[in-house]
Amino acid sequence: MVEYTCGKTNIEEFSAMISLHSGEFLEIDIRKLMIPSERVAHVQVGNNLEHALLVLTKSGYTAIPVLDPHYKLHGLISTPIIMDSILGLERIEFEQLEKKRVEEVMNQSVPRVKITASIKTCLRLLVNHPFLCVDTEDGYFEGILPRSTVLMQLNLDVNKMNKSEK
Ligand code: AMP
Repeated sequence: MVEYTCGKTNIEEFSAMISLHSGEFLEIDIRKLMIPSERVAHVQVGNNLEHALLVLTKSGYTAIPVLDPHYKLHGLISTPIIMDSILGLERIEFEQLEKKRVEEVMNQSVPRVKITASIKTCLRLLVNHPFLCVDTEDGYFEGILPRSTVLMQLNLDVNKMNKSEK
């Protein structure tokens, strides 16, 4: 099994420490922390790369989900993936942006969890990913869980814990 470490403490010990002292953090429902689908910048499988680059640049996000018209999650698209796909031998082939479709180049390996996943499972995955995609049992996209949101909540709980110990 892969062991994730946070400095000197492994993630199991880290979670145990948190639950031991506060109990609250590990009981949080991820629905409370995630950004719901309607507020997530995304593209559709059939969009061309020009559109995807526009959404990525305008939103300022590193990577965004790729959905189909039924809101099923198919992959992630990012600016580096797009740039790499239009890199010719001697020049960047910008004309390809209009021709290629998102589904041809997207990354199909998506860090994802079900809406029922525990915060502990999410914490483990967020060590290696800036955000997780959240979907229903049937695979419908519900939103994303960014690492920053989870850390913000953890920070609040740790501060609360410190105050109550004083
Ligand atoms: P943050 O922790 O807010 O910096 O977000 C980390 C990453 O999550 C961003 O770089 C994006 O790839 C993704 N992300 C965060 N919020 C959104 C959003 N509203 N729509 C799409 N992607 C997002």
